[in-house]
Amino acid sequence: MVSETASWIDRVSRDRIVETAQDLIRIPSVSGNEKAVMDFVSAWCTARGIQHVVTAKDPERPNVIAWVGDPSSGPVIAMNGHLDTVPVSDAGSWRTDPFDPVVSDDGKKLFGRGSSDMKSSVGVMMVMLELFREARLDGALMAHIVSDEETSAVYGTLHVLDEIEAGRIPRPDYVFIGEGSQLKVRNAERGIVGFRITFQGRASHTAVARVHGINAIAKAAKGILALEGDIDKFHPSIGHPVISINTIEGGVAHNVVPGECSITVDRRIIPGETKESVTEEIRAALDAIAVDDPDFRYALEVDPWGGYIPANITEEDSPLVQAFQRSVTAVTGNKPEFFVQWAGATDGRFYRAAGIDTVGMGPSGENAHGANEAAFIDDLESQGKIYAQTIADLLRAR
Ligand SMILES: [Zn+2]
Repeated sequence: MVSETASWIDRVSRDRIVETAQDLIRIPSVSGNEKAVMDFVSAWCTARGIQHVVTAKDPERPNVIAWVGDPSSGPVIAMNGHLDTVPVSDAGSWRTDPFDPVVSDDGKKLFGRGSSDMKSSVGVMMVMLELFREARLDGALMAHIVSDEETSAVYGTLHVLDEIEAGRIPRPDYVFIGEGSQLKVRNAERGIVGFRITFQGRASHTAVARVHGINAIAKAAKGILALEGDIDKFHPSIGHPVISINTIEGGVAHNVVPGECSITVDRRIIPGETKESVTEEIRAALDAIAVDDPDFRYALEVDPWGGYIPANITEEDSPLVQAFQRSVTAVTGNKPEFFVQWAGATDGRFYRAAGIDTVGMGPSGENAHGANEAAFIDDLESQGKIYAQTIADLLRAR
């Protein structure tokens, strides 16, 4: 049993991962222009006899769904990765051509646009399809190779989930998200809720500011100081919640006491917090000011632009989380750790919202979205081994 699973780890080829990642990086695929790279993936599958379908809401922004094994014979794992990238915005700062993937002299880094976010990780997924193509599996190993992660997900993962809902693509039991996680288990993500708070004063001539005016900007300043800062809460899978006041608008002229000032608040929530609970916290903080300041008045709009995302988690006792934790230890020798970081959202939230156990597991890299973006090749190799072990474990590969 041990030697069987060890053999899957040993069969992961660092060179195949790097070559496949390089093939993907060579094809520019800024969000909105993913067709060429998806055509490549589709042809790559055909050449290897790997079953796949191309599914698209917009034919110019397709997704490739590929699989090995039989989805009706047991659990289905789907590895999700996106092939769209952000544009090259500061070409002059690159030391290499962003679309000519170059390995550093010491063999440790792979440079190129999308190398870190996240073509190299998709390369790992493709190598997994290759590796398990001949295996006997209980169930199936799929890849959801998608467009449109950096922009909206509407043409990418959300479209794939619509197809799953419609019964045209098998529903996965477990999803791997390959975005960078420093090889730690990312089983939760912060949710997002926004607020607009309008502080109300009384406009007046500056000369009578102390008599008739109520300065709404000064009231906003009190409110901001009461809200902005560290939040003393912690979740072991994701860390602290976050609050940030990100815009402010107030005043009409340099000689008029402002009658109104509004701010927008971006609040990132952790499991256990809800839209309602954080709304109550914000009200409590502001109402405490009003106790000593009868002129302190505000109106609170919750989620004014409709972007609410609940905090989402796949619990620690999920077979997927457990399998990943065992694999991390088997491959790295390290005690498994959760990815407790100041990180943004991934497409994993959509699978969790559909009730599918989902874990983020990916490599480290540097300068994602910036010049000289690079993936760390040792991590890609470890990611491949962790994936291979987890897949072999969950699908009883032999
Ligand atoms: Zn990404």
